[in-house]
Amino acid sequence: MVIRGIPRTFLRHRKDCFSCMKLLMHICCANCATYPVSVLKEKGITLKGLWFNPNIHPYMEYKNRLDAVRKLGQLWDLDIEYRDYYGLEEYLRNVVGNKAARCEYCYSVRLEETAIKAREINADAFSTTLLVSPYQKFDMILEMGRMIQEKHDVEFHAEDFRSGYSEGRRMAKTMDLYRQQYCGCIYSEMERYQKDGSEAKSGGFAAHR
Ligand code: SF4
Repeated sequence: MVIRGIPRTFLRHRKDCFSCMKLLMHICCANCATYPVSVLKEKGITLKGLWFNPNIHPYMEYKNRLDAVRKLGQLWDLDIEYRDYYGLEEYLRNVVGNKAARCEYCYSVRLEETAIKAREINADAFSTTLLVSPYQKFDMILEMGRMIQEKHDVEFHAEDFRSGYSEGRRMAKTMDLYRQQYCGCIYSEMERYQKDGSEAKSGGFAAHR
């Protein structure tokens, strides 16, 4: 359970020192990072970011999003580690034939990598900027985060940032950050053009605006 956005283990052990808390934040894109990062920094939390999004398609889209995060990192002087890996083939091997479950796989890969890194750097918790987007499957991310929390024995910071989605987009616009038009994978890239949204209902979502 999360109390006012602070993980319970942190409250238990470090009640009087928010700035002592170290959180590793998975960053899915610059647009989604703006609001959660600003909120967590306001709380005085020591934040480190992790870029790891291996299934964004096509490669130039992957690169545009990575470059946008690098730009945000420079503008805001953020500590970000970049796991620059374009894993299209691995992603396809794992989801072909089971398209409806692709988001579950996609979340698990990104959150697990973040949890492992959080343990490695002795962070108090890990989280993801995916939690800001109303287009993502929020409950699935929470469920996945909690499973990975148990598996790797590191707290999942499950804060609902969705109320700040529009504010975050505005912040990104003022910095002229690249803004994507779909979630990221090859399926979502296809679905953005399917105007009736029929495919989106079976898997991820059509657009990411
Ligand atoms: S729709 Fe989005 S969350 Fe789902 S698999 Fe594709 S990139 Fe991942």
